[in-house]
Amino acid sequence: MEKYSIKKRDLVTVIESPVDFISVDHDKCVGCKDCVIICGMDLWKIRGSKAVLEPDYKKFCTECASCYTVCGYDAIEFTFPPAGYGDRLRKGLILPLFIVKYYVRLLK
Ligand code: SF4
Ligand code: SF4
Repeated sequence: MEKYSIKKRDLVTVIESPVDFISVDHDKCVGCKDCVIICGMDLWKIRGSKAVLEPDYKKFCTECASCYTVCGYDAIEFTFPPAGYGDRLRKGLILPLFIVKYYVRLLK
């Protein structure tokens, strides 16, 4: 069966949070790079053997919390952005898109 994929970023609007929702404690970070490896949006870098977030991470972070989860040194703090900020799915777009794809498959 043909696999349909949707680019997530095409379906998401980001309303940038006015406050930080991820931080790293450099006293705890050992520079293991696990956060760098796991972040699908490539928002972590190692500088001077410590993890740092891209300054504009709030524009691109998908709030997956993978960095927080993977850090075995408890160096990353993560909270979701305040209500009304962050990723918003475009609900009006998703359903019609799936319906069109469903009928296109039936016609094949
Ligand atoms: S996973 Fe944690 S300890 Fe490892 S580099 Fe990232 S912040 Fe530092
Ligand atoms: S929450 Fe997810 S997307 Fe955001 S910085 Fe962490 S790993 Fe990357």
